[in-house]
Amino acid sequence: SAQGPLLSVAGIEVMYSRLALVLRGLTLSVPRGGIVALLGANGAGKTTTMKAIANLLRSERGEVTKGAIHYDGARIDGLDPSDLARRGLSLVMEGRHAFPTLSVEDNLKVGAYSRSDGAVAESLERVYSTFPRLKERRHQPAGLLSGGEQQMCVIGRALMARPRMILLDEPSMGLAPLLVEEIFSMMQQLNAEAGVTFLLAEQNAAVALRYATYGYLVEGGRVVREGPAHALAADPEIRASYLGLD
Ligand code: ATP
Repeated sequence: SAQGPLLSVAGIEVMYSRLALVLRGLTLSVPRGGIVALLGANGAGKTTTMKAIANLLRSERGEVTKGAIHYDGARIDGLDPSDLARRGLSLVMEGRHAFPTLSVEDNLKVGAYSRSDGAVAESLERVYSTFPRLKERRHQPAGLLSGGEQQMCVIGRALMARPRMILLDEPSMGLAPLLVEEIFSMMQQLNAEAGVTFLLAEQNAAVALRYATYGYLVEGGRVVREGPAHALAADPEIRASYLGLD
């Protein structure tokens, strides 16, 4: 299983409440050590793709009706999120979901729940060195953090599980441009230094294509274009429709 992509999604179809298909044969793959961006407008199916991979559709009456998802050589569709976490696959969902009344440090410790090796203190230090601001605020309730700091807190919480791969949904959402750059460069640093692989869903194609190695453009629940990030950024149609350039 050390060969082939770390994650592959093959022709998945997803329906909510047995209504219309929302994903219509979506296929993508993420190489080990890659940063892959899933681009597309509102409603294209990016979040649904992330939830399908993380097996989080059931609570929304959604289901994968066709296709297969493999991670590290094994089929993972249907596995519990806690099982996925044990295998090193973590999800950071859209919006910020730090537990507001828990301290920053306790929020981070929650992320270590699936660990059995006891090296939680070491992981905390690692997260604090990635996000010094979280260390300064470690005793504050997370609800008092700024939007960007809460985003750091939920990413830090995912890192506590020492993941090999993180699914990152709309990291730029609601953040000021400078903070967006900070979050993305932190992702790049984790990728370069700790070898963490990323699949990132992002409406802000301009930023995503600057940090990603490869991208997929999703429209109407399927991939309509893919390629190395620099090639997508130079593609006339993508420039006109997604980057606001001509
Ligand atoms: P956004 O950036 O707005 O989240 P997206 O590309 O992530 O967009 P999805 O959230 O995956 O898109 O939505 C894809 C389609 O599925 C949309 O048409 C949306 O209305 C529909 N959808 C999403 N969640 C549900 C749900 N729980 N029940 C029914 N339909 C849903």
